[in-house]
Amino acid sequence: METHMMTIGLPRAMLYYRCRALWHTFFEELGAEVVVSSPTDREILDQGTALAIDESCLSLKIYLGHVRALVGRCDYILVPRVSSFGRHRNMCTRFEALPDLVRNVFRDSGQQFLSYEVDELFKKDEPGAFLELGRSLGHPAKAVKRAYKQAKKAELAHHKARVQKQELLFKREGIKVLIAAHSYVAEDPYMGRSVTDYLKQVGVIPLRADLVDREAASKRSRELSPTCKWEISREILGGIAMHQGDVDGIILLSAFPCGPDAMVNELITRRVKGVPILNLVLDSQSGTAGVETRLESFIDIIRFKEGKL
Ligand code: SF4
Repeated sequence: METHMMTIGLPRAMLYYRCRALWHTFFEELGAEVVVSSPTDREILDQGTALAIDESCLSLKIYLGHVRALVGRCDYILVPRVSSFGRHRNMCTRFEALPDLVRNVFRDSGQQFLSYEVDELFKKDEPGAFLELGRSLGHPAKAVKRAYKQAKKAELAHHKARVQKQELLFKREGIKVLIAAHSYVAEDPYMGRSVTDYLKQVGVIPLRADLVDREAASKRSRELSPTCKWEISREILGGIAMHQGDVDGIILLSAFPCGPDAMVNELITRRVKGVPILNLVLDSQSGTAGVETRLESFIDIIRFKEGKL
């Protein structure tokens, strides 16, 4: 008799871009099959937009579209609640609301969801959260701890490899532009990917502020803001502090409407001097043509400044 392998759905949005190595390894180590929704396309965006309330940010709308694409295709869909990693280390409140929101939106779908909660301000740390998660799937504590250890190793190695790959790009000749964005904004095909693609197409080297050593970046972020309370924004600020002298321009890329980015990007614009900055806010209506026009003039400004135009 064929035994059913448990399938876990991972929406390819929001924290997936940060945690994919962690999640894939953890579930695979525990013998589950992982199903990932396909990259964002028009249908996913439209479905997500229809499910979300108007005030939702574009990232959240896209996220709901990805959950929708997985409904009925797996035993569980993973929707974690990640609130904080300690003092001044908060996640945006949308991450806090995610499991409740998703369960509510899909309450009639018959789909089961799986969650874990990280909120270190309330003594809920990640190892404990994963232990509970694995135990809830019926695995013994020892196996779960082993899977988490492997998953953490994979996560660190994955990030380190990406950081090292980018370090090489900093050494290349040519115009370099640092993109300051949440990973899920920067990498989503319907958000930041078109920006990176465009830059490459016109011979500019795109770099990412968040592809840096996270601990070091968090410390360096104090040079730009000693009080920023959002974990990911701190890493981005630190990445800018580390690399502002190595690039010809900075693009602040965010999803509309984003509370943390509105504040942090304003602060960056005021405190980072001597390098051209472009503030790009993407919504579902942005369209590539409008974005390309703004990118084109930004690159012209850089080239003009450097006497290359
Ligand atoms: S940080 Fe901004 S883009 Fe990300 S979930 Fe929060 S509001 Fe949305």
